[in-house]
Amino acid sequence: MSEVATEPASKDSAEEDTALSLAALSLAAGSPRTTPCEEETEEKRCWVCLEGERKGPLVQLCACRGSSRWSHRACVEYWRRNSDKEDAAYRCGTCMDHYRDALSLELLSARLQAERTDGEDTCYTLDALASELQTQGKYDEAEPLFREALGLQREAHGGRHPGTLISIGNLGSLLQDKGDLAAAESLMREALEVQRETQGDRHPDTLTSINNLGMLLQAKGDLVAAEPLCREALEGRRELLGDRHPGTLTSMNNLGMLLAAKGDLAAAEQLYLEALKAVRETLGNRHPDTLVSIANLGALLHAKGDLAAAEQLCREALEVQRETLGGRHPETLASINNLGMLLMDKGDLAAAEPLCLEALEAVRETLGDRHPHTLTTIINLGNLLQVKGDLAAAEPLLREALKGRRETLGDRHPSTLDSINDLALLLMDKGDLAAAEPLLREALEVWRETLGNRHRSTLASISDLGSLLHDKGDLAAAEPLCREALEVQRETLGGRHPDTLTSINNLGILLQDKGDLTAAEPLLREVLEGQRETLGSPHPSTLASNRNLELLLKNN
Ligand SMILES: [Zn+2]
Ligand SMILES: [Zn+2]
Repeated sequence: MSEVATEPASKDSAEEDTALSLAALSLAAGSPRTTPCEEETEEKRCWVCLEGERKGPLVQLCACRGSSRWSHRACVEYWRRNSDKEDAAYRCGTCMDHYRDALSLELLSARLQAERTDGEDTCYTLDALASELQTQGKYDEAEPLFREALGLQREAHGGRHPGTLISIGNLGSLLQDKGDLAAAESLMREALEVQRETQGDRHPDTLTSINNLGMLLQAKGDLVAAEPLCREALEGRRELLGDRHPGTLTSMNNLGMLLAAKGDLAAAEQLYLEALKAVRETLGNRHPDTLVSIANLGALLHAKGDLAAAEQLCREALEVQRETLGGRHPETLASINNLGMLLMDKGDLAAAEPLCLEALEAVRETLGDRHPHTLTTIINLGNLLQVKGDLAAAEPLLREALKGRRETLGDRHPSTLDSINDLALLLMDKGDLAAAEPLLREALEVWRETLGNRHRSTLASISDLGSLLHDKGDLAAAEPLCREALEVQRETLGGRHPDTLTSINNLGILLQDKGDLTAAEPLLREVLEGQRETLGSPHPSTLASNRNLELLLKNN
């Protein structure tokens, strides 16, 4: 029996409130799809019928380049319906890119039904259809099929057969996508343990399981447990598959995400750059793996504060995702979200809001109200409304998301802590310091315990609590917190990072309020200079900093 040895989709969906993937819309501006490097003189021909455009428009339906790049839609459909090849229904046999469309589901469903009717072995088709549904974000329809496939494997081969273990891993990966991390973890651990025993630590299946478990632990927020697994997977794949194999590149991206989450942006950037260069060269600029890689680098540059470079990458990825995956695919939606957040951070709220609304509507419809992606999207819109000053509209969204995360992820998950913080900041904006303080303290305590005192999130949290105490008028308690955060941020993020600038600003205003104008002035000047460089002079934050400095100089 041939099992589908597809890597259970754990490429990564860089999934963090701001640090997501990409986004965009420049497509509407209609930049012609034909890029300058459009293969010079070579005449465009359909790879199925070998005819040119006279027979009809030529389109790109997969990630192939060269002579397999172009086809007539009808020719490929005919071939998919009639080919003897087992995978022709749903993916290109050359580049292995999935078509991700309704026809894939139609053909695989029909095949499954025929096999059931004839009493044939359904394992391959069950896995293929379930994977395709998962790829298209239809998780609830995929689950019973994965379970059925696993049941058949267990029955036929027992619980320790390689095929059964792949099936267990596939189901685990689906449950992770659905947001049920606890159930996913126990399945993945079960499969990995047996694979290590029976297939060894360097077998491709074992490495896939190591990688996937590492990503799951990262999604759970357990970075310490995730890191050795991500490193083991990358090391093993470099040895076994070489530095340019798609599996190796996936592992580079995954370890990069982990390092970024840990706050080691420089090490993460190096891995992302290596992976992106190789994936562009080997799979081209339109392959989903390339887009994930672009998205990851964009998110990292966003986190580093290099918004212009991040925007370019975000827009590139989103444009191609809209074309190749469609506007409602989870990866496209993550990108829409990310572009929205990026534009918000740039201060372009008018451009950001429709993206956030589009993403939220689609994600509620396709994934439901409690899916992790939905909760992230709710928060993003809430944050945007808050920045716009519409606190009344923002508050119910932030409360909905926090409730959802406490219930689905628990009280100590990093995403829950982000949510606690977000709600606290909103309450502070509303002037309700009494309600905000216990939330900030709750989040900070857990950050210190779980990520230590130098993690970016811990530092932001320290800085926020400092601001709150400042607003309450407790300057003596606020100052050491502001100084602690700033000192470590300068060391770990550098002096131009948005988090660092926020902390410099907070400390400057604090010293001003204490009456120490001499100490405050250089800090406020530094903030203004930093924002002019990174955000530009017309940005709302830069303008606010300019006013702060003018005010200080007037009173001096
Ligand atoms: Zn044709
Ligand atoms: Zn292809």
